[in-house]
Amino acid sequence: MYYNTIVIGAGFAGAVSARLLAEKGEKVLILEQRPHIGGNAYDRLDQAGVLIHQYGPHIFHTNSEKVFDFLSRFTEWRDYQHRVVARFLPGSDAVMPVPFNLTSLRIAFGEEEGARLEEKLRARFGREQKVGILALRQEEDEDLKKVADYVYEHVFVHYTVKQWGTPPEQIDPATTARVPVFLSTDDRYFQDRWQGIPKDGYTALFEKMLDHPNITVLTGTPAGKRLTFGDNILFDGAVFDGKVVYTGALDELFDCRFGRLPYRTLDFQFETLDREWFQPRGTVNYTVDEDFTRITEFKYFSGQQLPKTTIVKEYSRPYTGAEGEIPYYAIINPENMALYGRYQELAAKYLGLVLLGRLAEYRYYNMDAITLRAIETFA
Ligand code: FAD
Ligand code: UDP
Repeated sequence: MYYNTIVIGAGFAGAVSARLLAEKGEKVLILEQRPHIGGNAYDRLDQAGVLIHQYGPHIFHTNSEKVFDFLSRFTEWRDYQHRVVARFLPGSDAVMPVPFNLTSLRIAFGEEEGARLEEKLRARFGREQKVGILALRQEEDEDLKKVADYVYEHVFVHYTVKQWGTPPEQIDPATTARVPVFLSTDDRYFQDRWQGIPKDGYTALFEKMLDHPNITVLTGTPAGKRLTFGDNILFDGAVFDGKVVYTGALDELFDCRFGRLPYRTLDFQFETLDREWFQPRGTVNYTVDEDFTRITEFKYFSGQQLPKTTIVKEYSRPYTGAEGEIPYYAIINPENMALYGRYQELAAKYLGLVLLGRLAEYRYYNMDAITLRAIETFA
């Protein structure tokens, strides 16, 4: 069998690329090391019948019509507006909306003082505006400082140390900017135009996307079993002159010869509880205590009505490369980007090699962003 393109990885980056190439008439082979498709968006029913996200909670949201239209060819959507609250006082089950908003402001400071601070915030930043915590902390005004200090202490600093091992100032500013202070009573986590969960789940979406006569998918197949990157790219021992779309970690493609690219990994602890519901929102962030960062309850996503419920706790720690560990979050800083650049130079010598995705490009992508990137790369 001759393949025009070999795609490594069956997550969004690989699957979208494969589909677009197949529709153009190319024969595409996908090699996926895991026993399933879908990458980190993979979902499945657990023993209680709850549709769980095996690699952490995934909520689709986008402002890109192109992305929404493309993915809507393979799924219908269940409308779901993600809402998150934080347990923001040690040992207390009191909660407030995250991102920190005008409702949170009143929970934190009380009605009267909250209203006064709201006026100050509005006068400085305007209505319905989003302000990053790092920017807010630069403010000189004593009242704005007071809000910034509160939010920093009760929402950001402990959570970020759990998630990244360092305080907010030491991580990529784009990361905390995803969760701004929002001068609004809109308590949704995302304000994107389209938001939801694939009606039959992400795995079903991927099954449809990859169901094309020109696509062959081999799961349980690490790329190294069939492909070798030496002077040329060899496929089953013979020179392969087609394209290779690589969506795995770039350092691993070159046996980590300059050292490993640093990542954070996560341990997921799933629990099925003999009760209908566990918590008031889809996700509760633990921003001041506990070792885990957040708990997610999956039935909010799926809308399933079942007597039991399944939750997941997320514990973050450094990725070591040990067997079975998954690199989830690239740690973006100048030193790591320089190391990534050295691997990029090695990759550049293979003319047909395309690096795509959150691992191969060593950056954070939401599902819609990597879908758009794949569409644009294809074009
Ligand atoms: P992946 O999904 O990681 O796919 C890469 C695939 O390549 C994997 O299946 C891997 O097994 C395979 N692979 C790697 N190396 C090899 C090899 N050598 N041989 C064969 N196969 C290989 N995005 C959102 O939009 N909304 C969310 O709510 C959201 N929540 C998230 C929560 C968590 C905990 C995490 C970690 C991410 C979340 N994301 C979310 C981001 C989302 O997971 C990514 O946008 C998406 O997975 C990127 O797709 P990808 O194809 O680049 O990578
Ligand atoms: N963050 C925080 N407290 C929160 C939520 C987020 O400190 O309650 C910070 C933290 O550094 C986190 C970042 O904001 O890594 C981005 O949060 P997001 O929810 O987007 O993270 P993800 O879902 O990608 O893990």
